Amino acid sequence: MRIKKTVWTFFMLIMAATLVLIINSRVQLTSEVVVGGADSVFVKTNTLTDPMAEYENSSKASLEKYADLEFPAITITEWQYVLINKDTPIKSYAPSVRQFGSDGPYVDKRIIDSLSALIAAAKEAGFEPYISVGYRSYADQQQLFNEKASELSQNGAYTYEEAQQIAAEIVAKPGTSDHQTGLAVDILDKEYEVLDYSKMDSKFFDWLDANCAQFGFIKRYPSNKKSVTGWDEPWHYRYVGKEVAEFIMKNGMCLEEFAAHYK
Ligand SMILES: [Zn+2]
Repeated sequence: MRIKKTVWTFFMLIMAATLVLIINSRVQLTSEVVVGGADSVFVKTNTLTDPMAEYENSSKASLEKYADLEFPAITITEWQYVLINKDTPIKSYAPSVRQFGSDGPYVDKRIIDSLSALIAAAKEAGFEPYISVGYRSYADQQQLFNEKASELSQNGAYTYEEAQQIAAEIVAKPGTSDHQTGLAVDILDKEYEVLDYSKMDSKFFDWLDANCAQFGFIKRYPSNKKSVTGWDEPWHYRYVGKEVAEFIMKNGMCLEEFAAHYK
């Protein structure tokens, strides 16, 4: 009788340990979230870190790194240098926009000429560029964000509060999207419409990186600056004007690092 009881206790302990293991593995599974910029481009990560938490340190480091450079003499408060990110939301700012081409997205009307010139040059270089996203209003961003949060909380894996936190890593919160400036565009090559890192036309982005500055554009979210900007979007270009664009692209910085100099 006594032996039976010991065996039974042992059996129960094994069962309990197995249960803990199963629960643990499921927790790990659900904490694997996808992070990315556009709707269908996701980079998998197991850790939910807040990129902006690293922002201050990166920003300080950048300031030291770029301290010896001679920065352009500009007024940082001018419209084309507006900086929007998780740290500096823009609330309901709405630029005066105009449609790009006959079927393109809306953008700040002050960048139409520069954007047309960039697109024409890309075509001349043999690419088939098209702009998938331009201006996005605060309300549009709000809707995108809410949709993502609802989608994440729907299967019951997350509470709505948790879902909102995770959604903020995938879709910019309203008031924090660079697209709300009207100065940002997502540019793709028509041949490679699928927003997937492995299927993207790297030649096209190499060309854009080498040539965007002469038309006043910068690569806004380079992969190696994700800890500073919070995003990795190779297709996202942003107008800042020719002088600053050439300075930023030549020195391999991001807009946050550039703007930090003028604080
Ligand atoms: Zn974008």
